[in-house]
Amino acid sequence: MNLRRFLLLSAYKALKITRLILFRNNSFNHANILLFHRIRDNDDSPLSTPSRVFESMICEISQGYNPVSLEVLVRKIRKREELEPRSVVVTFDDGYRDNFLIAAPILQKYGVPATFFISSEYIDSERVFSWDENSKLDHPLMTWNEVRGLVKMGFDIGCHTANHYDLGQVNAEVATEEIFSSKKRIENEIGKNVTLFSFPFGRRACMRTEYKEIVKEAGFDCCCSAYGGKVNNSSDLYGLHRLSAYPSTIELLMELDGFMTYFDGNMRLNYAGFKISF
Ligand SMILES: [Zn+2]
Repeated sequence: MNLRRFLLLSAYKALKITRLILFRNNSFNHANILLFHRIRDNDDSPLSTPSRVFESMICEISQGYNPVSLEVLVRKIRKREELEPRSVVVTFDDGYRDNFLIAAPILQKYGVPATFFISSEYIDSERVFSWDENSKLDHPLMTWNEVRGLVKMGFDIGCHTANHYDLGQVNAEVATEEIFSSKKRIENEIGKNVTLFSFPFGRRACMRTEYKEIVKEAGFDCCCSAYGGKVNNSSDLYGLHRLSAYPSTIELLMELDGFMTYFDGNMRLNYAGFKISF
């Protein structure tokens, strides 16, 4: 660990121990929407969070923060209601089987709600996402029975299109079909209304304004990105920012506490409005 990083972690720990950071955070009415993909051990892919790390993150969130479901957060933002301090929302994209087998029992154990965004035509199939094609490991996806199992456990299912195309690269006809058909398929399979949407790849360029309108027309209450930062009660519901999973619990907590954030791979300290690159 380099000296700067050591000093940063030490300063954060000191503020945490003295509870000064809690005092500071109680004055912020923002929420952090976390984005995970896989909970998987012995996989060095940035998409995978080891189960032990995930459990420690969820344990911390359940004890020191205010875990809320995405649906509840969306309702509050729609009404412009004040968000509770230290609100944290847990979401997953893509529908990997470990979400059902590993993540869900951990979330249930700590009573933390979550939304699982799935691409309907990948569920119950042997299809492999393009980024997993050269992986040495298998990355199986959930079956519809497993998706229904998540619903039975009280979790929410969101829509992540049908075929996980980058909607920034397809024409309006394809985008419309992807958005409408996946909503219908998921609703038929789980027997519930699906109102939450996340854009495949989720970068700014993937989220074209005219396609957000299609998402709205299809009956979704929000669109989640895969970039950005914190949200508050005046955030755009069709451009909700999310934070990607952090490599360690302490770094996640530093982000949740507004102490630091990652930007282009560098840690940045957030203090009194200044941002310092490390
Ligand atoms: Zn995705």
